[in-house]
Amino acid sequence: MVQSSVLGFPRMGKLRDLKKATEAYWGGKISRDDLLAEGKRLRLEHWNLQKNAGVDAIPSNDFAFYDQVLDHIQLFGVIPERYSKYNLDPLDTYFAMGRGLQKEGVDVPALEMVKWFDSNYHYVKPALADNQVFKLASDPKPVREFLEAKAAGIVTRPVVLGPVSFLVLAKADRGASVNPITKLADLLPAYVELLKQLKAAGAEDVQIDEPVLVFDLSAEAKAAFKPAYEQLGSLGASAPRLTLATYFGDIVHNIEVLSSLQSLHAIHVDLVRNPEQLDTVVAALGPKQTLSAGVVDGRNIWKTNFKNAIEKVEAAIQKLGKDRVIVATSSSLLHVPHTLDSEKGLDAEVRDWFSFAVQKLAEVVVIAKAVTEGPAAVSAELEANAKSMQSRATSKRTNDPAVKARQAAVTAEMHNRISAFPTRIAAQTEHIKLPLFPTTTIGSFPQTQNIRRVRNQFTKGEITPEEYEKFIENEIKDVVKIQEELDLDVFVHGEPERNDMVQYFGERLTGYVFTTHAWVQSYGSRCVRPPIIVGDVSRPAPMTVKESKYAVSISQKPMKGMLTGPITCLRWSFPRDDVHQSVQAQQLALALRDEVVDLEAAGVKVIQVDEPALREGLPLRTGAEREKYIKWAVEAFKLSTAGVADTTQIHSHFCYSEFQDFFHAIAALDTDVLSIENSKSDAKLLKVFVDEKFAAQIGPGVYDIHSPRIPSEQEIKDRVEEMLAHLSPDQLWINPDCGLKTRAWPETKAALTNMVQAAKYFRQKY
Ligand code: GLN
Ligand code: ZN
Repeated sequence: MVQSSVLGFPRMGKLRDLKKATEAYWGGKISRDDLLAEGKRLRLEHWNLQKNAGVDAIPSNDFAFYDQVLDHIQLFGVIPERYSKYNLDPLDTYFAMGRGLQKEGVDVPALEMVKWFDSNYHYVKPALADNQVFKLASDPKPVREFLEAKAAGIVTRPVVLGPVSFLVLAKADRGASVNPITKLADLLPAYVELLKQLKAAGAEDVQIDEPVLVFDLSAEAKAAFKPAYEQLGSLGASAPRLTLATYFGDIVHNIEVLSSLQSLHAIHVDLVRNPEQLDTVVAALGPKQTLSAGVVDGRNIWKTNFKNAIEKVEAAIQKLGKDRVIVATSSSLLHVPHTLDSEKGLDAEVRDWFSFAVQKLAEVVVIAKAVTEGPAAVSAELEANAKSMQSRATSKRTNDPAVKARQAAVTAEMHNRISAFPTRIAAQTEHIKLPLFPTTTIGSFPQTQNIRRVRNQFTKGEITPEEYEKFIENEIKDVVKIQEELDLDVFVHGEPERNDMVQYFGERLTGYVFTTHAWVQSYGSRCVRPPIIVGDVSRPAPMTVKESKYAVSISQKPMKGMLTGPITCLRWSFPRDDVHQSVQAQQLALALRDEVVDLEAAGVKVIQVDEPALREGLPLRTGAEREKYIKWAVEAFKLSTAGVADTTQIHSHFCYSEFQDFFHAIAALDTDVLSIENSKSDAKLLKVFVDEKFAAQIGPGVYDIHSPRIPSEQEIKDRVEEMLAHLSPDQLWINPDCGLKTRAWPETKAALTNMVQAAKYFRQKY
């Protein structure tokens, strides 16, 4: 019989219950026990959903209060001394590492957080000391949660991040120089101990995630699999069977690693992203090994095409037999929203095309049943599915001839500004008049409870559009005044009208569908609600001009217009899977181009087009596919911004720190000013901008906005000093890492006051 399995389930709950509880705990509104109880309630609810759907292999330890990698940091005792020295409650140490802590004599910034592969989820990066010791926590979380499920009558398959991935995803801590992978032998005993404890608790199966197998691995990392899995695989009856999971790519380029994994029970591969790897992987399996076939998309919300999925699974069964194939989600379902049932307002036509986490549970079960018992056993489901596929393929919503005609008329010149950067910057200096070391922010100011409350009232029709507009104007007026007081140089309107930087635009573009409850976790308690691109995209009317125009009219200083770039709109939406992403990006670019031109006409001299997601879209491996992506992504950005005069200053913004391998793409965007997240990384990273003779201006973030911690003026000065070792004074902008929407006002004002003071200091000095 072919089993069904799920690699991980979203943690937040139907109504973002976990977000609410953790934030209440951080705010001192509920106790530690209340929070723990809420976590337990959610885990149980999610296990039961899976059990009732008929899923055979149900995951545990996929739950996390902040991030699953952070869980492993704590599980193996990789806690830097600056956190452990306070002897806080373990839960508070955990949150201190995740988000920093500044309270009652404790003052420590968060560990670095970076994107999880090419998703919009972020994980906390393990930071190893040179003399790192690994020690399995007492009462290890995977064991605890396994027992918790067992007590509720559900035998789960615990999920553990594998040792090689844990180390490849780690880095040397500040001031250390250790190459994490060299610590493998020290780490393995902790895994051995963990597996033994899991077995003793009754776990027969464990899912061990080694997603780094989809990367181009260093020779060292590749070689690490053999010793790691010889040791973990040789535990025999004292350990559970292991299913090694990979996702978000193919493992063909690392296929020889499989020969050292022969003692494992099963290998999971992502057959949604890379169906073509099936034959190679099957051929490399050992004679008794099982294939876990990831055929239900864990990254997108489209209903699974049963016919295609069944064909893939059947192809595997032909070679391996029914007992050696498992039907699975392609990855954890962490990246899709909880349930479609919460969406009350969706148009029936498109609703029928979607499948969220809860619906995907039923999908794996139906597919497993179809291949076990034959299609007749699920004929009604197959029939309904075929009908739904047909309806989407032929719907009018997916195809707009006017958009296609406009795309056909795009020319090469439309991608380039009128003059090159030196000419433009001269014209802008004249037109905009800025001091040395100009200060600015990235766009959003705190989205206060009041803003959210009034927006809610407006959405529910409790206040009129006029009242809402007045409210937004007042908010803009307030932030303009605050920026005047802070003495910033380039103002922003603060984005009070925006629920989210992508959703806001999605709601104003045709071709998009948006949801009310379809949240996915981005980092910690932060969730995003990606809109869904269902058809060809166009802009029926200006989207941001009214607010920006008003902001310009009331401020003495230059006002920056704020847009989300085409690639970020694409990446942070659920994209179509029936049209290539480059086509969707170009449609978005044309819509944004109109907006940029309209902003310029409305008197906005500085326009920032954010592309924080540009880097995450980069195919995970180097080579032709990556080059192709860079080409179409850069073209989309340029198409969206190149319609303006030389005097209009185009900014862009990126939040991630790993831009070393991506420098050429960033430079190719031909922006006038670039702001990048940098406060948590080494300023040495900026060297590439010098080495590559980056001509345009740049604002590497001077402080971390993900944490409520207030940076001192001295800290910021030190930061800028480091930057000046690499960048010239007339090139440097002073700004935070990213937008301030998740922060509260007191810390925002305090941090920006220190930032402006620091900028003034350097202005005097140079
Ligand atoms: N302009 C956006 C803001 O400030 C940018 C957010 C982002 O880069 N993630 O909120
Ligand atoms: Zn950002």
